[in-house]
Amino acid sequence: MIIDEENKQVNNRLASSLSPVGAVIVAAGSGERMGEVDKMFALLGGEPVLARVVDVFQSCDLIDRIVVVVSKQSLKKCRQLGIERGWFKVVDVCPGGERRQDSVAAGLSRLRDCHWVVIHDGARPLVTEDLIRHGLAEAEETGAAVAAVPVTDTIKVAGDDRLVQHTPSRHNLWVVQTPQVFRFDIITEAYRRVKAEVTDDASLVEQSGYKVKLYMGAYDNIKVTTPDDLALAEVLWQKHGK
Ligand code: C5P
Repeated sequence: MIIDEENKQVNNRLASSLSPVGAVIVAAGSGERMGEVDKMFALLGGEPVLARVVDVFQSCDLIDRIVVVVSKQSLKKCRQLGIERGWFKVVDVCPGGERRQDSVAAGLSRLRDCHWVVIHDGARPLVTEDLIRHGLAEAEETGAAVAAVPVTDTIKVAGDDRLVQHTPSRHNLWVVQTPQVFRFDIITEAYRRVKAEVTDDASLVEQSGYKVKLYMGAYDNIKVTTPDDLALAEVLWQKHGK
């Protein structure tokens, strides 16, 4: 009860200081590692993975509008899904690009009048409203905050010959996830200025000279890439009693 009341207060404060907040959900990957199935439409708890993700953003009070980025082949299917599920916050469903960053850029170009943007992988269906809320709260300070979890395995850096070059201390190593939350002007400037190939949005912001804060993500917030990941996601889905 107390936690609910606290959440409500944080929500109200954030909603008034951050609004409007947009979300870009990127789901236009080729999904080659999933074999025949388009992983965004594979079922999780009996519903498409993409539906699970967009539902969380649709229900989150702090999110005002959503752009969903999918492959050209999935545009119609995704729009139909939006109608069936009543996604009134989804202002656009647009086609993605060749690389993830091209898909994010396409999504950002469709968002209008937002002060903040939450970028999320469509392939992470175990995202929660709490992760979105914490990201927005953390980003207030620096303008950029990224969900991440401390590394639990030992990481080695090796050359192409697989000979180990060094073993960094685990102490400061984090595995980065999404949501990644940015002030709108910072992320759009980063996308305009930096053209290097990257695997997450924060890298562009870092290269533009801005500070990026890591906040505690969740080990359960996995990315569904292979059929094994989907099986694991199903177990986690049941574990959360969804
Ligand atoms: O596997 P990867 O890290 O590339 O994918 C992360 C997310 O980015 C997935 O949700 C995937 O659908 C999306 N993506 C995209 N467009 C691409 C590549 C990936 O929307 N060209």
